[in-house]
Amino acid sequence: MTRCVVVLAILGAGFLLLPMLGLNNDPSADGQEKTRSSFAGDRAPAEVTPAKFDGKRAMSYIQAICDIGPRMSATPGMRKQQDLIRKHFESLGLKVESQTYSAKQISRARAVDMTNLIVKFNPEKSRRIILCSHYDTRPIADQEPDPRKWRETFLSANDGGSGVAFLMELAHHMKDMKLDVGVDFVLFDGEEFFFQKGDEYFFGSKHFAKTWVQNKRQPNYVAAVLLDMIAGDNAKFPVEENSWVRSPELCKSIWAVAKELRCDAFQERIGDRVSDDHIPLQNAGMQAIDIIDFDYQHWHRLSDTPENCSPDGMIQVSKVLTTWMQRLK
Ligand SMILES: [Zn+2]
Repeated sequence: MTRCVVVLAILGAGFLLLPMLGLNNDPSADGQEKTRSSFAGDRAPAEVTPAKFDGKRAMSYIQAICDIGPRMSATPGMRKQQDLIRKHFESLGLKVESQTYSAKQISRARAVDMTNLIVKFNPEKSRRIILCSHYDTRPIADQEPDPRKWRETFLSANDGGSGVAFLMELAHHMKDMKLDVGVDFVLFDGEEFFFQKGDEYFFGSKHFAKTWVQNKRQPNYVAAVLLDMIAGDNAKFPVEENSWVRSPELCKSIWAVAKELRCDAFQERIGDRVSDDHIPLQNAGMQAIDIIDFDYQHWHRLSDTPENCSPDGMIQVSKVLTTWMQRLK
């Protein structure tokens, strides 16, 4: 993902003045009208129990993923990771669907094969949500101050690893939840397949979004939540700006649950504007947001290792999302 450093001062100030996220002022009155009914269910006083997310086991999954080494698209490391993911979900009695496509990066001579992985819960439900993350890692650790280090072994534990580990752990608990909506876990390939300035981004989410549009926007995805860098030590999740501008109702409903549950990693302020896999989903017409800790100091550095990760952010994300999604009608 990339960060845009432009700060929308007016928008940010308006947001900070909100006594409670989203009870007044909205950047998109249009979006508000369209989505109000979608999330009406989360206003009901439904008492639900969040999943008993095992943070320690989630950390063991981050370790197992990093033990593979780097997991760039179309490399043996990625194929090993696909095997690990497949085995994991299949051992829980779930099916892993592959969405394969060919991706040609501008700076590369040839196209490569990429694969999005999809795991469906309650597949019979037409009204569905997406929980997603990218699962490839970047070829270069390009935030290392010394460019000579860029090509050293880069594990990308939080950036790529944490979203996968989170969904692997959450899969244990899906059958225990009372859900009126179907849930699709989607792992995007090709988010980090980036070599030089001018290269294209987000092959996996673009392909997924395109396929969905071709399929007449079926199933009916009422929300998509992207998880990126959720396991950093002392992780903080301000509202990512592109999420707030383009999917305000979804932001409000999730951050309101966080406030209610006192999950204070979710901050009531606008954070950086980040280009990430939620953008192609938004462009296709979905309400899509990015839960991301963009202040993670090891981002695209060799120090993005399991040692610099912690279960706390993942536990809070699980508590908030599993409460929120069980209230969806
Ligand atoms: Zn990244």
